[in-house]
Amino acid sequence: MEFEIGHPVAMLESETCRLVLVLFPSQGHINPMLQLATILNSRGFSITIAHPEFNSPNPSNYPNFTFLPIPDGLSKSSLTVQDFHSTMLAIHRNCREPLRRFIQQMLEQNDPQGRVACIIYDALMHFAQEVAAQLNLPSINVRTSAAASMLAFAALPRANEQGYITFTDSLIQDESLKLQSLNIRDLLITMGENPSDTVLELRAATTSATRNSCAAIVNTIHFLEEEMLPKIQEYFHAPIYAIGPFHKLAPSSSSSLLKEDTGCISWLDKQASRSVLYVSFGSVASMNEEQLLETAMGLAMSERPFLWVVRPSSVGCTEWLELLPKGLQEIIGQRGCIVKWAPQKEVLAHGAVGGFWTHCGWNSTLESICEGVPMLCWPVFGDQGLDAKYISHVWKIGLELEAKLERGKIAGAIRRLMVEEEGEEIRQQAQAFKERAERSLDMGGSTNTALNELVELILSFQPQHVTSD
Ligand code: UDP
Repeated sequence: MEFEIGHPVAMLESETCRLVLVLFPSQGHINPMLQLATILNSRGFSITIAHPEFNSPNPSNYPNFTFLPIPDGLSKSSLTVQDFHSTMLAIHRNCREPLRRFIQQMLEQNDPQGRVACIIYDALMHFAQEVAAQLNLPSINVRTSAAASMLAFAALPRANEQGYITFTDSLIQDESLKLQSLNIRDLLITMGENPSDTVLELRAATTSATRNSCAAIVNTIHFLEEEMLPKIQEYFHAPIYAIGPFHKLAPSSSSSLLKEDTGCISWLDKQASRSVLYVSFGSVASMNEEQLLETAMGLAMSERPFLWVVRPSSVGCTEWLELLPKGLQEIIGQRGCIVKWAPQKEVLAHGAVGGFWTHCGWNSTLESICEGVPMLCWPVFGDQGLDAKYISHVWKIGLELEAKLERGKIAGAIRRLMVEEEGEEIRQQAQAFKERAERSLDMGGSTNTALNELVELILSFQPQHVTSD
């Protein structure tokens, strides 16, 4: 690498350092990246947020930051599971050169609020690592998912043409390599059994960028993945900083792309302690009509109060709840509250919430852990299968539902989690996890220590001169 890690005596002060954070434009990536930016800003770094124009965050919520929209050539209004990878490819194709130009200009402008010390990029924006290398800047990779997903991404079933993943075979064949009680083969299966060539290429490029970066930041807590983190460190060589849960270190502005319906908090205020099941499948996953009906019937049959988020346009070709029979809407209406988008962190922290039926997106998983809320897992795509295995098999703070949704099984699983003795054990374990998560943030706790080390690393970067066009 062409930049140098400086001697501590020559360290920069954080006020003279600007960090460029490169965002991937989906809600589950925007939230943690803006939280990370807030954390680093609180340590004195100036922040520039580079983001595609699609799904732009609202700059007025972050008056301390400079926002740099990158032309992305996309003409879309939402992200779906089906077009997730093609959107990612288009962003990689279209954003790379504008990003390089913008950062080059920043370097030439001699910004009084600090020169660019490094580029911190979402792992899905792997091209930012190459941009950094071209501009002779250090780069840090950010994982907004579990650390284990780094190995799952790296463990490709075959080496790709560029041959970047030379350690793949040994990784798969290493019987001793376990994700706590899961071995690496199970881990691969949770990430999709037959990934397409596009997915394999994206994983290979992401892994390669990680290996070429100076460090990786992961939104995880050391105790959650303590067996995994040393293995990852071994494979990637660069230091890994587990400084999650970001949202507890940066409990500030909302970065929600959809309007939050705060009315559900008043509804929760009227419910008994720990009685309500919160149901939400995140910002990308969708349902077909049959799944919607089975979910509604399962909730009705469970006889528990529930708060259900149904995102507009997330069910088949309909706008919202038109597909639910009127009679059923009335039945569940007496016991349930259905909203288009909720203030999720506030909901999970509410005393009336006793369980979370989730798609196991990593942010939702962490948010639930931090409030001690046990989970019912229904993973849909990507790393969610891995998170579900962690929750149900490794940590034992939740139960997993079958992929095919059936009303009777849903109602049964809700009762197991919310009413029966099995649920009480899970609840106690979830409460213990909440307390451990809190301790990680204390002075001397794993997150606090790793964050201090990360700040030191960034302060030690001494970027060289820019290479001009
Ligand atoms: N979220 C929210 N309101 C909702 C549903 C989700 O604010 O009604 C937030 C949630 O708190 C989390 C993010 O959206 O921070 C979803 O990220 P996650 O990784 O859980 O799933 P994804 O949307 O990426 O599938």
